[in-house]
Amino acid sequence: MPDSHRILLKGGTIITVDPELGDLTVGDILVEDGRIAAVAPDLGPLDAEVIDAHGMIVMPGFVDTHRHTWQAPLRNIGSDWTLGQYSAGMHRGFSTYFRPEDTYAGNLLGAAEALDSGITTLLDWSHSVETPEHSDAAISALFETGGRAVFAHACGASRWQMPSAVDHDRDILRIRDQYFSSAGQLVTLAFAARGPQFASHEVTLRDWELVREVGAPVTVHVGDGEWGKTRPVAWMNEHGLLAEDVTYVHCNTLADDELRMIADTGGSASVSADIETQMGHGWPATGRLLAVGIRPSLSIDVCTSNGGSMFGAMKTTISIQRALDNAAEPNPGEQQSLKLGCRDVIEFATLQGARAVGLGDRVGSITVGKDADIILIRTDALGMRPLNHPAGAVVYSAHAGLVDTVLVAGRVVKRGGVLTTVDAERVGKLAEETRDHLLRSAQAGDRIPDAQLGGDWLPGTVRAPSGDNDGATERSQA
Ligand SMILES: [Zn+2]
Repeated sequence: MPDSHRILLKGGTIITVDPELGDLTVGDILVEDGRIAAVAPDLGPLDAEVIDAHGMIVMPGFVDTHRHTWQAPLRNIGSDWTLGQYSAGMHRGFSTYFRPEDTYAGNLLGAAEALDSGITTLLDWSHSVETPEHSDAAISALFETGGRAVFAHACGASRWQMPSAVDHDRDILRIRDQYFSSAGQLVTLAFAARGPQFASHEVTLRDWELVREVGAPVTVHVGDGEWGKTRPVAWMNEHGLLAEDVTYVHCNTLADDELRMIADTGGSASVSADIETQMGHGWPATGRLLAVGIRPSLSIDVCTSNGGSMFGAMKTTISIQRALDNAAEPNPGEQQSLKLGCRDVIEFATLQGARAVGLGDRVGSITVGKDADIILIRTDALGMRPLNHPAGAVVYSAHAGLVDTVLVAGRVVKRGGVLTTVDAERVGKLAEETRDHLLRSAQAGDRIPDAQLGGDWLPGTVRAPSGDNDGATERSQA
């Protein structure tokens, strides 16, 4: 809950992401009752708790619109895996050995790591919640961490054997009533649908009836790799499933007319550039989305492969899109300007993320009246000095270790580089115990008995997807 007292963030370099306010070389922000009450170059001395922001970049907290948070204890185990190896190792393998306490430990670590790195809103794309107890554990960790979060319920491993013929678990109705009936709380609910790539068409249509019954926003993977060529969005459009509260994750191999269908129906997109390039989903769709008028949000996806901070996601996104843009130019060095700027990518990682998860009027920019989800980034490190282009420094030079202070709805959850809402040592230990349990169970079981740490173990691959969904028997999964 927001603090009732006043906080004055004094003398920082402010990147507001508010189109009217822009950037302030030096400025103050007044936070009152958890909301942003004033932004100006100098608010003078005020009766408020002062946080000295000199030498800091002050900006809105990041929004990660798609992360399979439960996987955090298996961090980097798949950094050299293909999509097929990830499907075999993670979904057919480790996911089946998660006990509710492991889901809790995973979500606690993943959510704490996100908050620590300045991600103040995390959409937890939770697709290893096989039982109600698993869901309870995942949600409990999100509430405990103190960040803003969206619990996106996606069932468990048994419903991710593709194409699934099993309907979405109706336990989501219990979850809605038990945890998400009161307005104004920091953790909210979304429906993480498998959609036509991962479930049969019949099941998808029935799942969307449940979507309407639940009344929560939707997030769905579409356009990753070969599946995207089966025109999943065109099929959804024919069946009236496209809507403005749907976030389309990946979008790499969707056709241009499908991207336009998303734009025409007001939907949002989530680009996970790190994982899309590793797993062969196709080129990140950033530029193609922009061409149809969709400004995408960014996401981390799986920490079993890539890092969990938005700094990495921004850098990969801008680097790849600039490479694509330059490759399309006959004389790249003679362009008037680059098409994609650092401020654009910061906006994707903040305001567009907030819009994608339905919180665009609450967070995502430093705007008077919005909730104070704000981060302070140190600029005294050698790699940040001298500070000549704040947005450029955030995208290309900053990292999670420089996030000094984090506020969520005006509550200080990180100060002086230390998270105050969770015991980091306990979180790390729980995650290591879970990792040990998962490895022991895997080695004693018959799914991935050769599982090992260290990077040399490559799980047997699952057959690559092909053809129309209703005909296939076995699929890799995102
Ligand atoms: Zn995903």
